[in-house]
Amino acid sequence: MKKLGALLVLLVLLLAGWILIRTFNVKPWPKHKARSLTALPDSAISHLSMAIRIPTVSPQDPSRIDSGVFLQYRSFLQSGYPLIHQRLSREIVTDFSYVYTWKGTDSTLAPLILMAHYDVVPVEPSAAKLWTAQPFGGEIRRDTVWGRGAVDDKCSMISIMEAVEALLRQHYTPRRTVLLCFGHNEESTGQGAIAIVKLLQQKGVHAEMVVDEGGEITYERLPDIHRPVALIGIGEKGYATFELLVEKTGGHSSRPDKETAIDILSRALYKLQNEKTPRRILPPTREFLARISGSSEDFFQKMALNNLWLFEGYVLYKMGEDKDGRAMTGTTIVPTILESGVRENVIPSQARALVNSRILPGESIKEVEEFIRKSIGDERVKIRIAGDFSTEPSAMTDYHSDAFKKVADAAAAVADDIIPTPFIMLGATDSRNFRAISNGVVNFCPTTDGKGYHGIDERLPVRDLQRAIQFYTLLING
Ligand SMILES: [Zn+2]
Repeated sequence: MKKLGALLVLLVLLLAGWILIRTFNVKPWPKHKARSLTALPDSAISHLSMAIRIPTVSPQDPSRIDSGVFLQYRSFLQSGYPLIHQRLSREIVTDFSYVYTWKGTDSTLAPLILMAHYDVVPVEPSAAKLWTAQPFGGEIRRDTVWGRGAVDDKCSMISIMEAVEALLRQHYTPRRTVLLCFGHNEESTGQGAIAIVKLLQQKGVHAEMVVDEGGEITYERLPDIHRPVALIGIGEKGYATFELLVEKTGGHSSRPDKETAIDILSRALYKLQNEKTPRRILPPTREFLARISGSSEDFFQKMALNNLWLFEGYVLYKMGEDKDGRAMTGTTIVPTILESGVRENVIPSQARALVNSRILPGESIKEVEEFIRKSIGDERVKIRIAGDFSTEPSAMTDYHSDAFKKVADAAAAVADDIIPTPFIMLGATDSRNFRAISNGVVNFCPTTDGKGYHGIDERLPVRDLQRAIQFYTLLING
C-alpha cells in the first residue's frame, strides 16, 4: 500500500515537472521588424475625409435609401480615382454596389477579391452632441481622421482604392486578376453583396482568396500580452433573433390576476439569463491561445494555456469572467427589446421580448431555439424566429491555408512584432456570402483598436490608413 502511495506521489511529481518544463520551453512568437511604410499618397487623407462627408447611411428599410447621397458618392469615386475608372471595368449591382475588375496577365490564376462596404450606420441625434468632432465632418485633427465610417468601413474601401490607383500610376498590372467588390447595404440587409456573389457565380468565378473587414491589430484588448496581436478573422458566429410572446387577458389594474403577461415574460427572461449555454474552446481559439500564451507574463496563465488537456476547465472558467472571453467560447443570448403596456392603469394583454443570439460555429439556429424553449419551460411563452436577418454560423477558413498565411505575412510587413492569430468573429459581415465562391475568406484590415465604430467619436489615425494601403498593395503584389 505504501509503495502504491509513493508511486502515485512520484507520478504526480513527474507530471508536475513535465508541465513546468513544457511551460518554461514555450517561446514567444518570434519578433520581427516591419518593412518601412511607403509614403502616403497625397490624396489618401483628403479622400477618406471626403468619403466621410458624404453620409451614405444605411436605413433600416432599404427602400428608403437616399439615392442622391449614394450617387454623390459614385461621382466622388469617379473623380477621385480616374485611373481606376479608365483601366478597370465597373459593374453596378443592385443600384449602388460595385464590382471593379482588374484583369491580370495570367488568366490561369484564380482571382483575388478585395472587399469593403461603404454604407454606414446612422448617428442618433442625441449622440451627435457627444461627439468631439462633427460625425459627418471628416475633420482631420491630431493626425487622425474623424467621422462616421472612418473605421467601419470607408477606411478599407478608400485604402483599397488608393492602393490600386497608386499601382496604376506606376503602370503596374497584376498577374492574378483582382476584383474589388463594394457593398452598399452591409449595415442593413447585405443584399448588395448577395447580388455580387450571384453575378460572380454566373461568371464561374472561384476566388483564391477574399479579404474583407472584421479583424484588426490590437494593443489594448489583451492587456496580459505585451505584444500587438493581429486578430485575423477566419469564420463568423451565426446570428438570430427570437421573439418571446405572452398573450393573456389583461384588465383593470385595480384587480390584477395572480400572474400577468408581464410577470410570465419576466420570469421567462430571468430563467433564460440563468441558464448557461455550453461553452467550448474551438480549434482556432485553441490556436489563438497557444500563439499568444508565449508572450504572457503571467506564469500560471502561460502554464494553463499551454496545457489545455489539463486546464481546459479552468481556462474556460477564466474566459467566462469577461464578455470577450464568453463571446469567444459560447453562444450568447441577450434580450434587446422589451414591449408591453399602453397605459399605467391597464394590465396589458400582451408582453413581448426580442432576444438576440450570436451562435458559435458547430451549433445551429434550431439548437438555440430549442435551448431557449427548454430553459424557459413554459408553454405560455410562444417562441419564434423574428427580426430582419438571421444566418447560421459560417464555415471556417483553415488557418494553415495560403489565404491565411498571405494575410498574416502582409500584416506582419506593416506592423512590428505582431502575433498573427486566427480569430472567430463575433459579428456578421458581407464576406460570409463569398464562401460560396472561395475557400479562402479572411477578415482583416491592419487598423489598430478601431475607435468608435457604431458609437461615438469614430476615428482613424492616419498611420492606420497608411498601413492599410500598404497591406492591400502587398496582397495585390503577392
Ligand atoms: Zn462594417
